[in-house]
Amino acid sequence: MIQEALEKAVSEGKSVTKSGKIATYIPELSKANTEHIGACIKTVSGETYSAGDWQQPFTMQSISKTISLTLALQTAGYDKVFSKVGLEPTGDSFNSIVKLETRNPNPLNPMINAGAIATASCIPGDDPFKLFLDLARKLCLNENISLNTEVFLSEKRAGMRNRSMAYWMKSENIIEGDPEETLDLYFKMCSVNVNAGDLASWGVILANDGVNPYTGTRLIESWIARLVKTFMMTCGMYDGSGEFAIKIGIPSKSGVGGGILSSVEARMGIGVFNPSLDPKGNSVGGMRILESLSKSLGLHYFGGHTRDNLKDPI
Ligand code: GLN
Repeated sequence: MIQEALEKAVSEGKSVTKSGKIATYIPELSKANTEHIGACIKTVSGETYSAGDWQQPFTMQSISKTISLTLALQTAGYDKVFSKVGLEPTGDSFNSIVKLETRNPNPLNPMINAGAIATASCIPGDDPFKLFLDLARKLCLNENISLNTEVFLSEKRAGMRNRSMAYWMKSENIIEGDPEETLDLYFKMCSVNVNAGDLASWGVILANDGVNPYTGTRLIESWIARLVKTFMMTCGMYDGSGEFAIKIGIPSKSGVGGGILSSVEARMGIGVFNPSLDPKGNSVGGMRILESLSKSLGLHYFGGHTRDNLKDPI
């Protein structure tokens, strides 16, 4: 039943890929194919389902914010991280600068670019990217995850908006170290290649309270899993988070590479991929897949949502 629902969801996703656009502000990302679409589900009871181009690699982009936040909480701790960033959704685009000055010098949450750059600056050590990569490999259950150097260099060259925010935050003492080093770390974390299967692994570990469902080993503390999932629910789809929560209701984090990481509490992790984006930077095909799955498998966080309810307005 899950495999059938997944295949149907991917074919529904395929029908909308033309309505979005590829990200071009990072030149290297514009090489992706908007027709690529795929998804993978991993359940807490150990089954895997996949469909379409689920093995196609893409860069994590903003999905890395879930792992860098986890790492910062593990290494620098809650008090340090949340002295730099807040706990509130912004209602603004992921790369917005405006509230840094008008609302508060601290970025409002760690899921937007400014917040993730501030969070990255908290990670201690001589080689924080190595710590990130080690953790990403552990949480995606894939030792082969690695940096896409072309995307990293492309983003480093093109990332003037992120650079502006980093220097602004340096002027406010939010970033303590060298802003260029923090930016390099942030750009590298965004440029790690994964596929939908890797995201499904991270999603199922989150769904399983931080425990690897295949071995029973705890990989992250329960409070961190809860905190990350809550941010995914409130801020994970940028300024589309409210509508996504109403209509689809699955804690999720998207990235402009076209991936979405989703975690259905105590049930499954879902990774989806399609590089065709809506104006907010969320994958058009990916969101359609999740909407279809939410309805056919009844995955909305608050329940009761199936295709049988044909009279429901959403
Ligand atoms: N690396 C991207 C950026 O900084 C991440 C943004 C995203 O995925 N929304 O712009």
